[in-house]
Amino acid sequence: MPYSSQRRSSGNNYSRSGGSSSRGGGQFDRSGSRGFSSGRGGSRKPKFSKQYIDPSRFIKRAVVTTEVPEYVPVHTFADFDIHPLLKQNIIEKGYINPSPIQDQAIPHALIGKDVVGIANTGTGKTAAFSLPILHRLLNEPFARALIIAPTRELAQQIEEELRSIAKGSGLFRAVLIGGSNMRDQLRDLKDLPSIVIGTPGRIKDHIERGSLDLSTFNMITLDEVDRMLDMGFINDIRFILDNLAAERQSFFFSATLEPSIRELINTFLSEPVVVSVKTGETSENVEQNIVRASGSAEKIEKLHEILNHEATGKTLVFDETQRSVERLAKELQERGFKVDSIHGGKTQGQRTRALKQFKESKLNVLVATDVAARGIDVADITHVINYTTPQTYDDYVHRIGRAGRAGRTGFALTFVD
Ligand code: AMP
Repeated sequence: MPYSSQRRSSGNNYSRSGGSSSRGGGQFDRSGSRGFSSGRGGSRKPKFSKQYIDPSRFIKRAVVTTEVPEYVPVHTFADFDIHPLLKQNIIEKGYINPSPIQDQAIPHALIGKDVVGIANTGTGKTAAFSLPILHRLLNEPFARALIIAPTRELAQQIEEELRSIAKGSGLFRAVLIGGSNMRDQLRDLKDLPSIVIGTPGRIKDHIERGSLDLSTFNMITLDEVDRMLDMGFINDIRFILDNLAAERQSFFFSATLEPSIRELINTFLSEPVVVSVKTGETSENVEQNIVRASGSAEKIEKLHEILNHEATGKTLVFDETQRSVERLAKELQERGFKVDSIHGGKTQGQRTRALKQFKESKLNVLVATDVAARGIDVADITHVINYTTPQTYDDYVHRIGRAGRAGRTGFALTFVD
């Protein structure tokens, strides 16, 4: 039976873990519900010097979807020379046409090229690297892949997307993120998973304690490289990359190509193909405006008004610190909104639960700090509200990228004094 030799008995593989991480054998479930935050990658303190951002940069009309020239993909999923199981799973997921990054990156990746993808969040990056990786894993018995993401939430989201694309493959994976049970991770690593997904700090911990040997890993993905460098992971990343097989294929994804990222690319990649699908400096399909309010009393009243407005759907509210996020979530709860919060001071279990409820629309409002919110892919967020202005304009772009995903028009409102 095809791929049966790769199956093992613990049940911790894609074909058996079912739709959600509810019980037994699913690495996702175990990793998402125990332990306390190590603080790594989850609780960046606000910097003291905030970048001055002219409020006019928070105002921009969305490009109405009908006016956007529709991207005509050069390929269909059927054109790609990928394993039939993957094609089948893509159909089941309801993907009809490749997104621009998929259309342009996958053909190069399938012939073994290193790929640098410059793309905004929500553009379909995950499938762009997952399909070529899974195709190789299904065809090369000794291939192994490492996927690194800046935050636990993003690592978990990548795992979810991979799980559905790899359904029925029998491939093993391990998720190595901070704030979750080390013993479960050690057990999963003993299965010699073909895919390891994780955050830099925890991956490094495993390498150092000898539980993860990367010398046979011949595929590497770095997702949101720019974020990882912002978060100070550069040395961890260099350390991890140095431990991989010398002969390897690399996929780097980033929203920007700053000099530090170019340097990383020049050091670790070999003649990469650069695919850029970035459309502008902010999400084109996000309608952006400011809300003028002075003083905390006026601010909370205006926020209440916005959240009560009938056009406001699922809303992500950003505030600055763990404490202010907690306080705001509590205030909104008392005002009757279905709200929870995520920040680095919460346990991984609490963060995962809040995100799940938000995804399932059991909450309308999620209040978050920047770091905790990175990589959140909740398809139907209508509004992003910056209750406090972000530290940098780059943070702003990342914040508002949470709304208006997958071609929908989103709204971003920024409170200014
Ligand atoms: P990502 O940028 O990988 O986080 O993907 C953003 C969202 O787009 C996710 O909800 C994906 O499930 C969805 N998506 C990715 N590729 C496609 C596609 N080809 N067609 C439709 N939806 C997609």
